[in-house]
Amino acid sequence: MNTPTQDPVSSASALLARLVSFDTTSHKSNMAIVQFVESYLAGHGITSQLVPTEDGEKAGLFATIGPKGVPGVGLSGHTDVVPVEGQTWKSDPFTVTERNGRLYGRGTADMKGFLACVLAAVPDIKRRKLKVPIHIIFSYDEETGCLGVRPMIDEMGDRLIRPRIVIVGEPTSMRVVDAHKGPVRWQIEVKGRAAHSSMAHLGVNAITYASRLIAELDAIEQELKTRPPNPRFEPPYPTVQVTMIDGGTATNIVPISTTFDCEVRTLPGFDPNEIEQRLRAVAEMKCLPEMQAIAPEAAITIEQTNAVPPFGADPNSEVVAMALKLTDQNETFAVSYATEAGLFQNAGAPSVVIGPGDIAQAHTANEWIAKDELGKCMNFLTRLADWAEA
Ligand SMILES: [Zn+2]
Repeated sequence: MNTPTQDPVSSASALLARLVSFDTTSHKSNMAIVQFVESYLAGHGITSQLVPTEDGEKAGLFATIGPKGVPGVGLSGHTDVVPVEGQTWKSDPFTVTERNGRLYGRGTADMKGFLACVLAAVPDIKRRKLKVPIHIIFSYDEETGCLGVRPMIDEMGDRLIRPRIVIVGEPTSMRVVDAHKGPVRWQIEVKGRAAHSSMAHLGVNAITYASRLIAELDAIEQELKTRPPNPRFEPPYPTVQVTMIDGGTATNIVPISTTFDCEVRTLPGFDPNEIEQRLRAVAEMKCLPEMQAIAPEAAITIEQTNAVPPFGADPNSEVVAMALKLTDQNETFAVSYATEAGLFQNAGAPSVVIGPGDIAQAHTANEWIAKDELGKCMNFLTRLADWAEA
C-alpha cells in the first residue's frame, strides 16, 4: 500500500480510503479498524498496545516509534465517526469519492484524514534516528463525549508512557489551536403526580416545574452574556441551553414526569458547578416545597452525564511554539468545539490542536477534505520528524 515511489498525498489518500471503509459510527465496534492499524504498524516493525473495553467491542491503540521508555510527542486522533442516518449523501459515505480535489466520505475531515496522514508518515518516521519518540494514540467514543481516550490516559505513567507533549489532530485547517470550550451536560428528571387534567389541583405537573428550571437556565445564559466577554471565542461567553426534552403521557392527564438534557459550553476558567448549584437551589427552594405539599413523592434529580474539560494551553508551552514553528505560523486560535486536548493537558501532557480539514465539514452530509490539506499535514509531519531527529 505504501511504497517509497508513492508521493505522500497519494499514500495518505489511499490510507484514508481504507480507513473510511470501516463503518466506525460511535455506537459500533471499532475493532476492525484497530486491527487494520495494528497490522499496518506491525508491517513496519512497530508493536501496538491495545486498551480494550471490558466487552472487547472497542479498543484504543497506543504505539511508539523511536526510543522506548522516553516521553515523546503523542499524535492523537479518534477512530469513531458520527452517524450518517437522516443525512442525504451524493455518494456512499463509506467509500471515498474524489471530486474537484476533494475527498468525500464520512470522517474524511473529522478525523480519519489526520489518522491517514499519521499512518502515511510512518515509513518516513521509522527510517529516522529519532531522539524524541513519536507516540500514536488512537481512541474511540470521542464523538460521544471524549470517553474512549480516558482509559488510555488513566494508564499513562503506568502501562503506557505519558507523552511529553500531545498534538491532537482534529480539523483546524492546519491552524494552531491553543484553546477551546468544553461541554458539561446534565440530565434532569422531574417527577410529579398524575391526575385527570380536569382535576389539575390534585396533581403535580412535571412539565410546569421543568419549565421553571429551564427558565432559570435561560436566565443564567442571559447573565453570562453580560459578564466580561472572552473575545477569543465565538460566541465570547459560555452558552447554556436545553438540548432534549421528553414529558407527558396524554393530552388529558397531568404529566407525572419530564426529563430534559442541558449543556453549558464552558470557557477555560469558568466553573460549571455554578450552573448546577443554581439549578439545585431553584429545585430545592422553589419547586420542591410546592410540589411536595401536594405529592410528598415528588422529586427532582439532577445528574451530570458528561464533562469534557475546556482547553487552554500555557502561553509559553513548548508544544504550541513547536506547532507554530513547524507550520511557519505566528498566530494561535481559540475554537468553540471540544477535543481530547483538555484531558491530555489536565493529565500532565501539554497539548495543542492542529489537523487537516475544515471543522465546518465535520458531521455534515457529503463531508469532505481537500487533498491540499492532506499535503499540508504530511509536510507538518515530515518537519515534526526532522525536529524529533535533531
Ligand atoms: Zn473529531
